[in-house]
Amino acid sequence: MTPAILNLSKKHQQERDRVINRRPSKEEAEEAVRTLLAYSGDDSEREGLKDTPSRVIRSFDEFYSGYLKDPVEILERTFEETNGYDEMVLLKNIMFVSHCEHHMAPIIGKVHVAYLPRGRVVGISKLARVVEVYARRLQIQEKMTAQIANAINGVLEPGGVAVIIEAEHHCMTTRGVNKPGVSMTTSKMLGAFRDDPRTRSEFLANVGMS
Ligand SMILES: [Zn+2]
Repeated sequence: MTPAILNLSKKHQQERDRVINRRPSKEEAEEAVRTLLAYSGDDSEREGLKDTPSRVIRSFDEFYSGYLKDPVEILERTFEETNGYDEMVLLKNIMFVSHCEHHMAPIIGKVHVAYLPRGRVVGISKLARVVEVYARRLQIQEKMTAQIANAINGVLEPGGVAVIIEAEHHCMTTRGVNKPGVSMTTSKMLGAFRDDPRTRSEFLANVGMS
């Protein structure tokens, strides 16, 4: 690991420790769900709702598992036997489920990730796992887009990274302005994807967005 990546890794470990230290207990979290059930107007003690708090907390463990995962750990194992391959590596249509940090409502969509390897490549499933690290947190789409791009850029140190996210925000489609079918697109381009119009066009054409 280079000193820069080692630093990045340390930062993520510290963040993970902070998450573990400030977490309330499962019992406290379940009690909070009971309060919300009562607030919604139902009887939190009735048969059908008895196990709901523990089920909700188990869903939370899944929806927000990204806080305990370290993108550096996922991306650090790379392969150097690439026969000099230095063209674009692109992973399209990575489906994800996240939750918006303003309403805790689902954000459902897909991510396209590309990078230009410089001497080493990463297993493609690792790119999808990095998407999961950031999707499984409370998010805004703009931040998630930048986080994925920056993590790949920081650890792989490639010639460039491109990330595009298209997603539907349920806080907008199921409540509030109630506009089903509306989706939002965000993108983050680094290195050659930002500076070289040909690389950018190739990427956009490959994901069907040119
Ligand atoms: Zn929202």
